Amino acid sequence: MAKKQFKAESKRLLDLMINSIYTHKEIFLREIISNASDAMDKLAYKALTDDKVAVDRSELKITLTPDQIARTLTISDNGIGMTREELESNLGTIARSGSLQFKEEMAKQEKAEGDTTDIIGQFGVGFYSAFMVADHVSVTSRAYGSDEAFRWESDGADGYTITPCDKERVGTDIVLHIKANTEEDHYDEYLEQYRLSDLVKKYSDYIHYPIVMLMHKS
Ligand code: ADP
Ligand code: MG
Repeated sequence: MAKKQFKAESKRLLDLMINSIYTHKEIFLREIISNASDAMDKLAYKALTDDKVAVDRSELKITLTPDQIARTLTISDNGIGMTREELESNLGTIARSGSLQFKEEMAKQEKAEGDTTDIIGQFGVGFYSAFMVADHVSVTSRAYGSDEAFRWESDGADGYTITPCDKERVGTDIVLHIKANTEEDHYDEYLEQYRLSDLVKKYSDYIHYPIVMLMHKS
């Protein structure tokens, strides 16, 4: 399947993320978890406002599964999920609130002094921050009310693909293939349970859904 290109402004932000020498790479987890929480809020809200929608709120949770052998970190939620069209419009372009605000600040900063690295930590930089720690990202999602599922995949700069796939439950699984260590940058820590728990405590303490860690059994 032919790769689709990111929109120009998305590509610029993506390049910044991929090549970032920024020291707060760890904030990717905050961004992914906050999106998962938003998706569960949306489903809970739908249940409140539509009698036909039944959701057991106590079932809603976020699961983190590090796998050191495969070098993957999977973040799963059972929120509202995304259709093929939503995968396309939400992950193929930067039109979302957090990312848009970030983009505007970046433009201002560039005009003023030319250094954009400092502002990454100050804003909700959004989904693309995954590419600060991952060289391949897949997003498998099944939208509420749909029996179809789709997988969005990308290595970053050179576009993304969306393909049909199987997914038993409604919600979203994000699989980050964690970059290899280099002399300057260490990424292994994002596959370690205690480090991930620390990051959850540090950045995601306010999330009102359970966040559980699963051990991968390889
Ligand atoms: P923002 O959260 O500011 O809207 P992001 O870049 O973090 O921007 O996310 C882009 C969009 O992708 C979200 O607005 C949402 O529509 C969609 N999205 C991301 N992660 C998920 C998820 N786990 N479940 C459902 N939708 C998601
Ligand atoms: Mg977000």
